[in-house]
Amino acid sequence: MWRDLRPVGRHPDSGGYRRYAWTGADTDCRAWFRDQATARGMTYECDRNGNQWAWLGDPAAGDAVVTGSHLDSVPDGGAFDGPLGVVSSFAAVDELRARGAAPTRPLAVVNFGDEEGARFGLACVGSRLTSGALTPRDAGRLRDADGVSLPQAMERAGHDPQAIGADPERLARIGAFVELHVEQGRALDLTGDPVGVASAIWPHGRWRFDFHGEANHAGTTRLEDRRDPMLTYANTVLAARKRARLAGALATFGKVAVEPNGVNAIPSLVRGWLDSRAADEATLTALVEAVERAARERGDRDGVGVHVERESFTPVVEFQHALRDRVATLLTGDPDRPAPVLPTGAGHDAGILSAAVPTAMLFVRNPTGVSHSPAENAAEDDCLAGVGALTDVLEGLACR
Ligand SMILES: [Zn+2]
Repeated sequence: MWRDLRPVGRHPDSGGYRRYAWTGADTDCRAWFRDQATARGMTYECDRNGNQWAWLGDPAAGDAVVTGSHLDSVPDGGAFDGPLGVVSSFAAVDELRARGAAPTRPLAVVNFGDEEGARFGLACVGSRLTSGALTPRDAGRLRDADGVSLPQAMERAGHDPQAIGADPERLARIGAFVELHVEQGRALDLTGDPVGVASAIWPHGRWRFDFHGEANHAGTTRLEDRRDPMLTYANTVLAARKRARLAGALATFGKVAVEPNGVNAIPSLVRGWLDSRAADEATLTALVEAVERAARERGDRDGVGVHVERESFTPVVEFQHALRDRVATLLTGDPDRPAPVLPTGAGHDAGILSAAVPTAMLFVRNPTGVSHSPAENAAEDDCLAGVGALTDVLEGLACR
């Protein structure tokens, strides 16, 4: 399976993957998925929102066990983010058969469409549409960098955009969803475990900080006469880092815009975007408030006005405890010694679905923690341990 997927959408210079929703590379990934389903004698279907399903048993019977992930990528993404979950799911179906385990519940492998949001700017479009978290009307407004709308892109790729929308009947047939994913961090590397179970997805959000100063000549304006928003911004970045460290949370200024953006001009405006995530909402709120306070205090000293706008917020996703604990126990076969349970700061389709379906996630160790990069990696032994773990979970949930 990896051999087939390896060249699809791979950029020759960066070595990274550019598999954006409804592009040629995406079409190739979808054809691969369909071939994998057919080769195993599974019933293939593409749902109204462009998510692909491969079924063992009759979906209409209900209480299905579903596993899978996504095949699309971020710009120059790694090989594992997404595909590891889909490849491992098909491999787990093979392993179930090798074990002679016969599912007593319908079992499906799924490929959720447009998970990364690399093309249209919104993540998890396939699962959001299915769950109703994204309306067809709002989906119709999404456009890529060339001005192509999501419905146009779907239509060009041969999918009927008129059909998109909430699919509660489909969700009602799912009894459990388990997503395996490469870890996007080093928690398992630090504990020394090849596979772990997700406890929760941290609440996270984006805040825009506007620092208003006064443009002036870099060569003639005395330091004491300046109202330099870059200074306030720089101090705010440092404050965010310090506050995040003290709170055991994360805060990142990863995007900045400067006006007039001239090398010999004191800026009139610096706009910085803060991405912040924490284990709970109270910590996150307190952290962002502390950063905002630090920005205003420094702004007062610099003669710079500070305006903060929250642009997005996603509350905590707590995976269902009963399923999570069952999965953690199934992994080791020993209730007294369950697999490690860890939180993550990254969003996933499993997080979207968890509002409607009991959901769990497995993580496979990432030795460097690097993700969303061509350098992303997972050892072959760990990937095989992931397949073994997923098979144990599917056997425990669907075959007994
Ligand atoms: Zn992913």
